Amino acid sequence: MRYNRARLFHLPMHALKTIRDIDVTSRRVLVRVDFNIPIKDGRVADDTRIREALPTLEYLISKKARIILVTHLGRPKGVVVPELRLTSVAARLAELLHIPVATCDEAVGANATAAVAKVREGEILLLENIRFYPGEEANDPTFAKALAAHADIFVQEAFGTAHRAHASTAGVAAHLPTVAGFLVEKEVRELSKIFHNPARPLVVVTGGAKIDTKIGILRRFVALADKILLGGGIANTFLAAKGFEIGQSLYQADKLDVAREIIAAAGDKLVLPTDVIAAAADAVPMDTTPAFEATIANVPNDSKIYDIGPATRQTFAATIAMAGTVVWNGPVGFFERAPFAGGTEAVARAVAAAERATTILGGGDTIEALTRFQIAPDTFTHVSTGGGAMLEFLEGEPLPGIAIIATK
Ligand code: ADP
Ligand code: MG
Repeated sequence: MRYNRARLFHLPMHALKTIRDIDVTSRRVLVRVDFNIPIKDGRVADDTRIREALPTLEYLISKKARIILVTHLGRPKGVVVPELRLTSVAARLAELLHIPVATCDEAVGANATAAVAKVREGEILLLENIRFYPGEEANDPTFAKALAAHADIFVQEAFGTAHRAHASTAGVAAHLPTVAGFLVEKEVRELSKIFHNPARPLVVVTGGAKIDTKIGILRRFVALADKILLGGGIANTFLAAKGFEIGQSLYQADKLDVAREIIAAAGDKLVLPTDVIAAAADAVPMDTTPAFEATIANVPNDSKIYDIGPATRQTFAATIAMAGTVVWNGPVGFFERAPFAGGTEAVARAVAAAERATTILGGGDTIEALTRFQIAPDTFTHVSTGGGAMLEFLEGEPLPGIAIIATK
């Protein structure tokens, strides 16, 4: 399979073919969705990801396509795990669409083939959890071919899984004309804007626990961004690289060199915390844990840094307020605990208040933080549904699940 970088970053994004650009009427359409959602006590606990695919599904129903849905749920690792069957997902989807959703206990095989044959115009079948099959994550060509045999057209609608080269996200495309669903179209269009004359200054805010997942985006934005505001656990490694005492804080000793390299390359663009919220190193962080402020020159050796301090919040907020474009991924503190949520809340409110700016954010925990602070997603220009996929897209990685989509 050829991954075409130019296709992703140099062509205008409306060049991706979508379900609008292909005749789907009466055709068997295999739609890869990302319905990897939390299930509690046999019921769907959060249906956001199902709702996000509704425009595409409603369009296909209105065009009288025969819809065959495929998704993964959880990590069954190639074997059947009864609790990870899609029965409750199908039930919720049927409620939201107000039409029946047929299910099948297979994704390929005689039962699946028979179930597919029964799908009439405007009807929907949800195949069984695709990760019950080892061929899925292995992107086994025979498995991909068997899956593709169900359909005439492949629709990529699983942005959250598009960074994986699996059978149902990439492999099937070798056998079927492939177009984007509306969600994938929107993700690619909105995220691509960052690379096509973004309104300046372009400000990137990043945090989170581990540097590994953010190195790529940091490296890329050192060149592209005007400011990089760094908080969270990853900032600790940068502070340590600069020779500051960070006590017993979470940091990555093996990433000090990378941090130094980014510090040198970024120069004035990189903004690190000047003060922090910390707690005693032996205290388990809880909602009642006593916390204290410290400047970064005065972090006690027996403490841990859990958030950015008030002066840093002000600096970050002022920089965000001046931005033409803001890209935010990663909480700047241990926001799950009340004493350390203030920094992330300040960032979230500053990005939400940047009304004239294009604001783009994503990441599982970043979105969790919005929920915690009760900030509506529509306050922002674009909230990406992809965590890892968004990061890889922003890094400039050609995503296997996007590179297979036909262009106009
Ligand atoms: P996202 O899912 O949005 O990409 P990450 O997964 O990278 O975000 O990071 C989120 C996690 O980082 C959160 O669970 C948060 O508690 C943690 N975190 C942020 N700052 C710190 C810190 N200073 N110490 C410990 N954990 C932190
Ligand atoms: Mg996360």
